[in-house]
Amino acid sequence: VTPGIRPLIAGNWKMHGTLREAAALAEAVRAGAAASPPAADLLVCPPFPHIHVLAVALLGQGVAVGGQDCHAAAKGAHTGDVSAAMLRDIGASHVILGHSERRADHGEADADVRAKVAAALAAGLVPVVCVGETEAQRLGGEAEAVVRRQLAESLPDGFAGIIAYEPVWAIGTGRTPTEGDIAAIHGTIRDSLAARFGAAGQGMRILYGGSMKPGNAKAILALANVDGGLVGGASLVAADFLAIAASA
Ligand code: PGA
Repeated sequence: VTPGIRPLIAGNWKMHGTLREAAALAEAVRAGAAASPPAADLLVCPPFPHIHVLAVALLGQGVAVGGQDCHAAAKGAHTGDVSAAMLRDIGASHVILGHSERRADHGEADADVRAKVAAALAAGLVPVVCVGETEAQRLGGEAEAVVRRQLAESLPDGFAGIIAYEPVWAIGTGRTPTEGDIAAIHGTIRDSLAARFGAAGQGMRILYGGSMKPGNAKAILALANVDGGLVGGASLVAADFLAIAASA
C-alpha cells in the first residue's frame, strides 16, 4: 500500500449469477463489512442487469457499485451497448475498462479503451483501467514494456482514476507472479503515472488482480504501490471477498 492511499478491494463478478444471487451476495458483503469494517473501500461490479437493484440496496452502505464496461459514445445507434451516463444514472460510481477478457473477446485495443475512459470521466464515473501482459510477453521479457505502452495509450490526458495490473496468465488460473515481480511492475506503473500526471499520479490507486485469494492477499497487499485488489473468482464468495478486504 502507498502511504496516504486508502486501499480499494473491488469485486469483478464477470458474467455470473441471477439477480437473486447477486442481491444475496451484495447483502452478505454489506453485512460482513458493517459487522467488521475493513481498512479498505469496497466496490462490487455485477453484470449490467443487476447494477440498479444493487446500487439501490447498497446506497449509503459503504459498498460502491460499478460496471464492467461501457461504450465510448454518449448515446446513439449502438445496439446492445450501454453508455457511461446510463451507468451513472442507475447508481454506478465506477466502471472497469480494458479488462483483458474484453481486449481478447471483443478486440478492444488501447485506443478503444482510451475513448471509453474519456467517456467514463465525462459521465462522472471513476474508471478502473486494466493493464497486464500475456504469458508469452512475460516469458519474452516484455512485461514492463507492454504495461508501459498500455498505460500510455489507454489513458487519456487528464486521466483521474484507478489502475489495475492484471497479468493475463494469472487471471482465473490460481497462478500469481512472485511478490518481487508484482512489486516491480507496480513500481513501473507508479513511475509512469507520476511522470505523466505529476502529484495526481503519485496518489492514484494501483490495484493488483489475478488469482487474488484470502491466502495470498496479505502478502500482495503489503507490497509497495499495491493499493488494493481487483478480485474475480474469490469475489463471488462473500467470506473470501471480506477476508481479502480484512487483509488490507
Ligand atoms: P480472478 O480474476 O481473481 O478470478 O483471477 C481477476 C479479474 O479478472 O479481474
